[in-house]
Amino acid sequence: MKEKILVSACLLGVSVRYDGKSKANEELIEKLKDYDFIPICPEVWGGLPTPRVPSEIINDKVINKDGIDVTDNYMRGAIETLNLARKFNIKKAILKSKSPSCGKNKIYDGSFTGSLIDGNGITAKLLMDNDIEVLTEDEFLGGL
Ligand code: SF4
Repeated sequence: MKEKILVSACLLGVSVRYDGKSKANEELIEKLKDYDFIPICPEVWGGLPTPRVPSEIINDKVINKDGIDVTDNYMRGAIETLNLARKFNIKKAILKSKSPSCGKNKIYDGSFTGSLIDGNGITAKLLMDNDIEVLTEDEFLGGL
């Protein structure tokens, strides 16, 4: 039986990113043929539109570039993702690096200048806090 995993939809070529584009990773897509995967997008599941104003984490809050606090949307999307993982007994997720939702270990620093700091996205953190293994696409592909 194939292993079940969650995967950030934007990595699969689905145009759900804030800019209305995807971040398709062809190597990942090829490798995922050996898995039973479910695409996720916590920002959309949290009620945000596509395209949307980009957001970054500042002092544990998610603030968009217009200064609006969208933490509740990010939390909703994270909880929906966790609920789905539990429903299907999924123990692993491949999540898009650096995102304020999906990023693991490194995220943007809240200045909207492209600078990175140590930290996790809201969904990545909630999944890891609930014993679901999170890998970035590079980790999964063995590039790190
Ligand atoms: Fe991709 Fe995650 Fe952002 Fe959705 S929330 S666009 S899946 S990085």
